[in-house]
Amino acid sequence: MTMTTTSATELASALQKGEITSVECTTAFLDRIGSTNPTINAFLSVDRDGALAKAEAVDTARAQGKPLGPLAGLPVAVKDVLCTTDQKTTCASRMLKTYEPPYDADVVRRLREADAIILGKTNMDEFAMGGSNENSAYGLVRNPWDTNSAPGGSSGGSAAAVAADMAPLAIGSDTGGSIRQPAGLCGITGLKPTYGRVSRRGLIAFSSSLDQIGPMARSAKECAMLLQAIAGHDPGDSTSLNTPVPDYLTGLEKPLQGLRIGRVAEHFGEGLDQEVAEHVEQTFAAYEAAGATIHEVELPHARYGVPTYYLIAPSEASSNLARYDGAHYGHRWDGTPTDDQGISTFDSPLVEMYCRSRAEGFGPEVKRRIMLGTYALSAGYYDAYYAKALRVRRLIRNDFTQAFKKVDLIGGPVSATPAFKLGEKTDDPVAMYLVDLYTVGANLAGIGGISFPCGFTKTNLPVGFQLQGPALSEPLLLQAAHQYQQTTDWHLQRTTAIPS
Ligand code: GLN
Repeated sequence: MTMTTTSATELASALQKGEITSVECTTAFLDRIGSTNPTINAFLSVDRDGALAKAEAVDTARAQGKPLGPLAGLPVAVKDVLCTTDQKTTCASRMLKTYEPPYDADVVRRLREADAIILGKTNMDEFAMGGSNENSAYGLVRNPWDTNSAPGGSSGGSAAAVAADMAPLAIGSDTGGSIRQPAGLCGITGLKPTYGRVSRRGLIAFSSSLDQIGPMARSAKECAMLLQAIAGHDPGDSTSLNTPVPDYLTGLEKPLQGLRIGRVAEHFGEGLDQEVAEHVEQTFAAYEAAGATIHEVELPHARYGVPTYYLIAPSEASSNLARYDGAHYGHRWDGTPTDDQGISTFDSPLVEMYCRSRAEGFGPEVKRRIMLGTYALSAGYYDAYYAKALRVRRLIRNDFTQAFKKVDLIGGPVSATPAFKLGEKTDDPVAMYLVDLYTVGANLAGIGGISFPCGFTKTNLPVGFQLQGPALSEPLLLQAAHQYQQTTDWHLQRTTAIPS
């Protein structure tokens, strides 16, 4: 068995039967990281010793017949936006270069309780702001299918780690598409759960009303397994949902007979790549062949999703990132205040320390978002921008509510194009923001969405399909994706583009 190309579900059963040990399995992935990460840069840090120690502990406990958690012995990669007590948490920012969190994120705590093996922390766009992983302070990530292309973002490291077989399972976060879009561009499966389904405690905040953590893996079944371990109420997150967590695995095998899937005509408008459109249409046809029915639905305000998102997310970010002041957290400027030399242009040495710490600690995109958000929230502009965006958000939400009266799920593309070349959009922030066209709606509405591979372009780049569903429809989203993956093998294709 080549462990690195074996699914987490099969690895779990081989571990249970004693055919492999967790130390063997963990070593296989660590070795793969060792040979592949120098090219891909998916991991910011790898905890070889910690991972092997935990693997050994799991193997010993298993040999002694002790009860083990549901992910016992399985390696997982964790996006570096989640606090870990035993590894630095940088959020891919210079600001948090040396940050050692005093507590584990709730999701990390749950992974540890499930006896998973945390391999390391994955690269991302700084503070999760971006759609290409080019905004990391620690170097870009390369797409395993074409190393000159972007893996998407901001969970580009987690997506690339799974696509390049460096981890069978990974955790991502999705504020406007950051799980689904990189999953789509890297040919893997990623689920953004309903807002509140997974605790955000210990997730370094970008936009608190939109952020949500979710699973990434090759298949929907593996995502179900990972979601099962991380979902659930947490009194430490006031927005966490206090509703029982269903069994995400049992319903997967149910056939799709009678499932109503919506198709939005506007999704197929200007800007959609021809090959992407063809694969998406073929996926609708595959669902029809599997017993589902396709219905035209309208999301009349979807076109306002990107502008609404780019007011709300930066506004919340400008507030959330105010805490990085050089005093409480993170990077601190260590120069000499200029007024000691009698020439200060700052109000006080303290203000100078704040300003210079922030100027040094944050990268250009983070600064852009802070300025956009501060502007949108400022007196005189608040009503025209932020308050208006909140009203449009409500309209977008209502559109989904109406649509879900007619259909169970809505299908469509994840991104308008396959993976784009590195550097292609870095000088044009608006072009980069438009990448989020199909994904921001689910965040603004607080609903669930899943992205999975539905074909390849002629140049062998993966194409993703997205299904969106009402609040708490994760069982149906996973079932629909799993059923598709029972009759297709796009998710099983492995890249040969990584030089060894
Ligand atoms: N690309 C979007 C942005 O730049 C989404 C990011 C995310 O979901 N974290 O904000």
